Amino acid sequence: MGFQSQIHEALTALERAGLRRSPPTIEGPQGPLVRIAGRTVLCFCSNNYLGLAGHPEIRRAAQAALDEEGAGAGASRLISGTMTAHREAEAALAGFVGQSDAVLFSSGYAANVGALQALVGPEDSVFSDALNHASLIDGCRLSRAEIHVYRHADLEHLEALLASHRPKARRALVLTDSLFSMDGDVAPLRGLAELTRRYDAGLMVDEAHALGVFGPEGRGLAAAEGVQPDLLVGTLGKSFGLAGAFVAASETMVTFLRNRARSFVYSTAPPPMLARAALAALSLVQDADDRRARLFRHAARIRRELRDLGLDVPPGTGPIVPVIIGENRRAMQFSEALLDRGVFVQGIRPPTVAPGSARLRLTAMATHEETQIDRAIEVFTEIVREG
Ligand SMILES: *Cc1c(COP(=O)(O)O)cnc(C)c1O
Repeated sequence: MGFQSQIHEALTALERAGLRRSPPTIEGPQGPLVRIAGRTVLCFCSNNYLGLAGHPEIRRAAQAALDEEGAGAGASRLISGTMTAHREAEAALAGFVGQSDAVLFSSGYAANVGALQALVGPEDSVFSDALNHASLIDGCRLSRAEIHVYRHADLEHLEALLASHRPKARRALVLTDSLFSMDGDVAPLRGLAELTRRYDAGLMVDEAHALGVFGPEGRGLAAAEGVQPDLLVGTLGKSFGLAGAFVAASETMVTFLRNRARSFVYSTAPPPMLARAALAALSLVQDADDRRARLFRHAARIRRELRDLGLDVPPGTGPIVPVIIGENRRAMQFSEALLDRGVFVQGIRPPTVAPGSARLRLTAMATHEETQIDRAIEVFTEIVREG
């Protein structure tokens, strides 16, 4: 069979397994309401938790930077791509999360893969939560470190793994999401900090979904828990409403990453307007206590009312509300029924989540109106009643 036909076959197999993905195209801007195929629908699946994507102050900052500094950085940061905007954004973001320095990456995926590949190698061990984000998993694989997966948020299991495998490893690094992206629950950060101290391991915390949402001024869950990880990963694509990411850490650690993280070294720097927009977003995020209060109120309401409908909503806190459906096709049918009635909620299937745990993943936004949540719950109620 030719290469083209083999891939055609593979795609057909995905289709048969209910795993082919064909996301709708959003026409126009992101927000609580989005246009899909000419129709305005309610959006309950964006990570734009604070509703800042498209905020006028962020747009103004990006436009001004575009006028003054141009559209592209022209090269990798290590060639001629390091610009004032990058350095200012890095300093501000590092200060925000209480670290000495930070390094920008073009995405969270690039940040995690680059950092892990730089920090650990074949003589080392990484200890990774079973529900960590794919970018952490891929970073572990690329690093060729020995990978030990501990049961989700299970400190006893982690300790057992550290006790057996830490001694043989040159370096050891414990990895965790802080707010888990598909389950909406949080990592036991204090326990992880204590264990990593005791076993002389580093701690890397990915705050992609928590930054802007949890902690004083939205500084994240580590800040909320009083934990200082060795490396803190933040993304700008979620609460910040932009794109891009950063790793914040000590000066030594950040300097090392600037030298060795291949996704930083061998990749064109993010456009300066992105760094300027990030600075504008940062000050909005810090000032967003009202938005955070609304976000938590909305999420708590969605959680409670979906549970009251008898749906399987696992315990959690914050803006991510999963509804476990189980079978892939059923999750997608539920999602289609919602969209037919004007509510956009994406279904999540393996390999993003474990087989048999396909789900709807709802997310609240600070900018949802109560009446919009009323409508979403009404639609869920109709679909549940119809079975
Ligand atoms: C979204 C996400 C990433 C990837 O960030 P991008 O900027 O979207 O590439 C990394 N880690 C976690 C935990 C995420 O949820």
